[in-house]
Order: sequence, then C-alpha cells, then structure tokens
Amino acid sequence: MKKFKVGILGATGTVGQNYIRLLQGHPWFEIIDVAASPRSAGKSYEDAVKAKWQMPISIPNDIKELIVRDVQDFQKIPPDLTFVFSAINMPTKEQIKDLEIEYAKRDLPVISNNSAHRWTSDVPMIIGEINHEHANIIPAQQKRNGFTKGFIVVKPNCSLQSYLTPIHALESASYKVDKLIITTLQAVSGAGYPGVPSLDIVDNIVPYIPGEEEKTEKEPLKILGKVGKHGIEDDTSIQISATCTRVPVSDGHTASVNIKFKEKIPTKAEIIKIWSSFRSVPQELDLPFAPEIPIIYLENIDRPQPKKDRNNEKGMAITVGRLREDTVFDYKFVALSHNTVRGAAGGAILNAELLVNKGFIK
Ligand code: NAP
Repeated sequence: MKKFKVGILGATGTVGQNYIRLLQGHPWFEIIDVAASPRSAGKSYEDAVKAKWQMPISIPNDIKELIVRDVQDFQKIPPDLTFVFSAINMPTKEQIKDLEIEYAKRDLPVISNNSAHRWTSDVPMIIGEINHEHANIIPAQQKRNGFTKGFIVVKPNCSLQSYLTPIHALESASYKVDKLIITTLQAVSGAGYPGVPSLDIVDNIVPYIPGEEEKTEKEPLKILGKVGKHGIEDDTSIQISATCTRVPVSDGHTASVNIKFKEKIPTKAEIIKIWSSFRSVPQELDLPFAPEIPIIYLENIDRPQPKKDRNNEKGMAITVGRLREDTVFDYKFVALSHNTVRGAAGGAILNAELLVNKGFIK
C-alpha cells in the first residue's frame, strides 16, 4: 500500500513529539512535513526541538533533517501532503480555529487535538470506540464551509478518555447512567512543554487546571450525542460534576468516578464482564492503532497505577479497577489512560485510520 503523506502542525511540542514517535513504522502514514511557530521555522527539526525532546527514543533519522515550516506559511505546504495532524498552541482559540479552516480550505483534512473547534456543531469530536458514526456529519461541514476535500475532525480533552469508554460500554449494554462525580489526577505532560513549573508540582498537588472541569463536564455530552440535521445533538441525559487536579506524575491521567444509574443497576460481576468483553468498530476493522482489548479490568486492589498501567496496549487501552459499591451513588471505580497517547496523538492517529477506512481521507 502506498503510504499517505502527512504533516504535523505543532510538531515540536509535547503532542507533536508523540506523533513523531508513534508514527515511526506506521503501515499507512508517513510524515513528510513538520510545522511549528516562527521561532522554530527554518531550522532543522533536531535544532528546533533540542532539549525539548522528551521522548524515550532518539529523534528518528528521517525526521531530524526535515526543515520546520511556519504553520502560517501556506506557500510551503508540500503539494503531495494528504492530511495534517494539528497540535498547536496559539495565543487565542480564534487563531487556531482560523488556521485549521485555512488548511481544510486547501483540501487538507485536519485531525486535531486542539479544543478550538470542539464546539463547532458540525465538527465531530471522536473517540473511535464510542462515536465513529459522527464522521457522517463531515459532508454537511464541507458544504457549509465550501470545503472540497478538506474537513476538520477533533478529539476530546485528555481528561475524559479514561472513564468515558467504560461509561459508554455500560450504556451500550442498556444500563443508562444518570449522574457521575469525577475527580481527575492529571499528569504534568498534559500541560505541554515546559508546562507546570517544577517548584509548583514537586511534592505538591495543584487543585485547579484552567478550563478543564468545564471540558470534562461538557465534552462527553457531545460525544455521546447523535448526528442531527444541523450538527451533533448533545446527549443531555447524563449529569456530570468534575474536579480536575494536576499531580506529580509524568504521563497518565487517572480518574476516580462515582456513578449512579437511572433505573436498572448492574451487578459488579456484570459490569466487569461488560467492560472486559467490550469491543467496537476499531477492533472489528483491526485498525493499526486499535487496542485489542480497549478496556482492561484489573482485579488487584491497588491498581490501576500510572507508572505500571499507562502503557497497556501501547498506551491505547483504558485500564480500570477498584470497582466497588458506593455509599451515596451506586458504584465507584478508578480509571486510567495515557494522556499523550490515547488522550492525544494515539487517539488522533486512530481517528485518522477510521477516516481512511470510511473513505473520508483518500
Ligand atoms: P506544547 O508542548 O506547548 O507545544 C505547542 C506547539 O505549538 C509547539 O509545536 C509550538 O511550536 C507551537 N506553537 C506555539 N505557539 C505558536 C504560535 N503562536 N504559532 C504557531 N505555533 C505555535 O503543547 P502540547 O501539549 O503539545 O499541546 C498542543 C495542543 O494539544 C494544545 O491545544 C493542547 O491543549 C492539546 N492537547 C494536549 C494534550 C497533552 O496531553 N499534552 C492532550 C490533548 C490535547 P514552537 O516549538 O515553535 O514554539
């Protein structure tokens, strides 16, 4: 198979570096373009990242010498580029929105990690195992914007990846969820590079992450919603209350979840069976980045732990544990996902694979 030639906007950042690492040897995708801010533009990738490179592998040889392009320099976009992954920070969300639209206008699908377009109603916010069918809104988005081949697809915030697939699995088994109370313990890599100052996070917990609680409470409603005539219609049947904290962990966001069901309440054994047997379209299609077992339940009383469990299924699995009855709601459990893999670059690569399979990326 001839590989799709892809670009990474924000290639020098935390998520961008994960794309470089994860796409090495990908059977379908080959990186030919790396773009970042004017600070990095014109330098070789190696010179641009220098000490910022945080990956556990060396910079791959075929990437080192690529010259970083300014993300705003549209003239220099390689003509054979098929689509871009977008993981940029800019001063305002409006700038990111406009930038992603500019790429889509130039016939380039944009698979984004940024939050800028998450609330554009005809931009699908996809977790492959939950709402792959939201991609069906893409033709309406193209029509509204006058895009020919380009479009924008986003993935949600990294804080909710750990618990939303387990919740979706229960709902799919017809155990409807009424309320969730969630406390996240989020890794420092979630703040990008250089992120949280070391003196703020070593020996400490920061009980506030700007904007994160709103995203944790609202984004699931769009993901669990359905494709309507004018965009994605939220599922407003679930109420979520979230507290998001930053903890001194390098990678891996943990969530403590209390859950109340609407009517039917499953037994503990049923919940574990539903989670352990859950499979979805990415598994059925055997996509390269689909974890074979998307939800791993651990019986050990002291798991999941970020250090030990974040890399399950190459960082693409959700690991859950500590399921027990709750004294106020029905049950409580602890869930973990790798924030820069499942929650960022890996999740977006899986989305791109789905979009290739569905014929949206050609
Ligand atoms: P980061 O480490 O701060 O990297 C930011 C990237 O954006 C770098 O490539 C940087 O280029 C570029 N950039 C910064 N200012 C720019 C500007 N004015 N114009 C053009 N490019 C600019 O951030 P990150 O953690 O990778 O996050 C990137 C995006 O992904 C953010 O929207 C974030 O919310 C989202 N996200 C992050 C995570 C995570 O776990 N980290 C998870 C999900 C989603 P230079 O190197 O040239 O400055």
